[in-house]
Amino acid sequence: MALAKIEITQDTYLVGIGVSPGISIGEVCLLASRPAIDAAEISPDLVDTELQRFRSALNQAREQLNNIKRAVSKQEHLREHLYILETHLLILDDDMLVKGTEQAIRKLLNAEAALSRTLDKLRALFDNIEDEYLRERRSDVDAVGDRLLRILAGASERSLGQIGRRSLVVAHDLSPAETMQMDRSNILGFLTDKGGRTSHTAILARSLDIPAIVGLENITALVTERMPIIIDGSSGVVVLNPSPATVQEYRNRKQSFEDLERELERLRELPGRTTDNCTIALRGNLELPGEFALACKHAAEGVGLFRTEFLYLGRSTPPSEEEQFQTYCQVLQIMPEHPVTIRTLDIGGDKFVPELNLADECNPAMGLRAIRFSLREVTLFRIQLRAILRASHYGKVRIMFPMISGVAEIRACKRMLRDAAVELEQEGLKYDPDLEVGIMVETPSAVLIAPLLAREVDFFSVGTNDLIQYCLAVDRGNEYVAYLYDPLHPAILRALKATCDAANNAGIHVCICGEMAGEPLYAMVLVGLGFHELSMNPSCVPRVKRVLRQVSRRDGELLVEKLLQLATSKEVSCQIDEDMRKLLPDIFDRPII
Ligand code: PEP
Ligand code: MG
Repeated sequence: MALAKIEITQDTYLVGIGVSPGISIGEVCLLASRPAIDAAEISPDLVDTELQRFRSALNQAREQLNNIKRAVSKQEHLREHLYILETHLLILDDDMLVKGTEQAIRKLLNAEAALSRTLDKLRALFDNIEDEYLRERRSDVDAVGDRLLRILAGASERSLGQIGRRSLVVAHDLSPAETMQMDRSNILGFLTDKGGRTSHTAILARSLDIPAIVGLENITALVTERMPIIIDGSSGVVVLNPSPATVQEYRNRKQSFEDLERELERLRELPGRTTDNCTIALRGNLELPGEFALACKHAAEGVGLFRTEFLYLGRSTPPSEEEQFQTYCQVLQIMPEHPVTIRTLDIGGDKFVPELNLADECNPAMGLRAIRFSLREVTLFRIQLRAILRASHYGKVRIMFPMISGVAEIRACKRMLRDAAVELEQEGLKYDPDLEVGIMVETPSAVLIAPLLAREVDFFSVGTNDLIQYCLAVDRGNEYVAYLYDPLHPAILRALKATCDAANNAGIHVCICGEMAGEPLYAMVLVGLGFHELSMNPSCVPRVKRVLRQVSRRDGELLVEKLLQLATSKEVSCQIDEDMRKLLPDIFDRPII
């Protein structure tokens, strides 16, 4: 489909996905796209030559990636991202890629055509995946494919290390390897046509502190070299050809953003404590190894939710006990003084792991997902339990089971955990005998029997992302019903209150780890409901802490009392807005940056 042509005048605004915050004002440096592919059919006598060309391209790509790996491993802040390059090296050895391309060459296609056809097949495998994170792993295949096609076309390797002037890079797509090579003193930000919030490139941009906007669709077709441009990586707004007034406005915003960052930095070492001395632990949610350092950077006090799904992705065999153990220990080392809550595998539903060959289900969100899958695939589960137990000897580990819907389920988990512990003892391997055991409260049944579940565990962690979906019967990934997906629905407030009350009456701690926990506007409400811990995307910690340190739990309780009288989420939302503006006009009575 041809894209509608946009006329670029002064102050042309575009909106993409802001993935790394910060404002930059500068000029475009347009990065060349992949050269055109010279696809062709060949005669049988050229098959060997083309096979040779393809194999030599594989070798060159390996050499390029190994060179980047060597350079990157010398840089402390990038070391934890080396696994991405390892993944790309593994893709170069992947049977589907290599054998698929070789077969296509034997069917009389030249190397470029054969490779392109194989890449299309590989990409198609990712296309039907709903989960954004998993779908984004397709970008790794794209990055490797692009590298090979460039080599076959005889084009030189694109390097962002060589950009000579301070500029904003605009590209169709950037591979993680290219992003890692960015020279931060010259690159003020980057914008791409492709990409999503959870692409490796986006995660790297946050680690590198480079403002970035992705998913702009056709920015490469709209800008020209050296065009003046402004980007706001928080809101995803791009301004092409800004007028002097717009430049001034964004200079002011940049100043405010940097002042706020400095203010937040001053809070770094301070605890999340309310004015009436109630300490709320502010922990990080981790999804990828590349985010471990980010949790430290934002002073998250430990990990409230370590999603372990990534360990199972992009591979034909599940991770071994030893591999999992090493990964868990890696996180423990980064945060030795704080708890790390490891959630056992939560796949199925929107989190599809193609490698695990899950059955096709009509209604996967209510099917064999999360703990139901683990309790069925007991061999996989046992390996994970053993790895978590072993890691518990080396730090403050907590174990958490996802999507528990009844007491029998948690008892079955605890039995398996005990069996795994006995095995380790018999093998002379150490674990923490006081390991805390908790559950995600994310089904309506768990809320309704929260007092019964509280007798079984050491803590609750409320997963509002799913709880909202199941309580309100709204698919969390379905855009048609997104307008009904509402954290402030009176039913959700009551569910949160009932869960906190059950935990507090039983004397166990209660955390919230859904997206709601990272919203500064809700911080006081959550404290008022009775949560002891909030776990969120690490980048949200400083802003939530700033709010918490200026309000009291009592204020929160009074607000919750008012909210529980209201009938609609609109009324709830207005009441929260009104109270927060009154209490903290500095934060909530001005444009949010
Ligand atoms: C949740 O459901 O709120 C949660 C934190 O888990 P996930 O988003 O991984 O399902
Ligand atoms: Mg969940």
